[in-house]
Amino acid sequence: MTTTKPRIALIAHDKKKDDMVKLAGEYLYFLKGCTLSATGTTGGRLANELGLTVERKHSGPVGGDLQIGALLVEGGIDCVIFLRDPMTPQPHEPDINALVRACDVHNVACATNVSTARLVLSQLKEKTTW
Ligand code: PGA
Repeated sequence: MTTTKPRIALIAHDKKKDDMVKLAGEYLYFLKGCTLSATGTTGGRLANELGLTVERKHSGPVGGDLQIGALLVEGGIDCVIFLRDPMTPQPHEPDINALVRACDVHNVACATNVSTARLVLSQLKEKTTW
């Protein structure tokens, strides 16, 4: 059990943003108790559509993934939910790879699809009390 607020980063590529909003809606009560950061557009949708308080970084293609990565390297992120679109080439592919690599280097959980995200969020929720 932990009583500290989980610090979760949320990122979704354009075709995965609806999935992210739906997923966050499933865990809304839990996420309201977490410290959230997100890339710009993803964070905007989560704030506007679900009322979540989110620290919004730049949009992914202009450096938002790198900002999340930097925060993670400093020890400021416990878990990354990164709904990537594997079917669409992304202009910021190097930034995406850098963020996923940073998760591996620093042993931070990184869920890149909805099924894994549900497992990670359920586990975090179970071990968090406040
Ligand atoms: P966005 O960035 O939330 O600003 O769209 C996500 C990404 O494309 O990495």
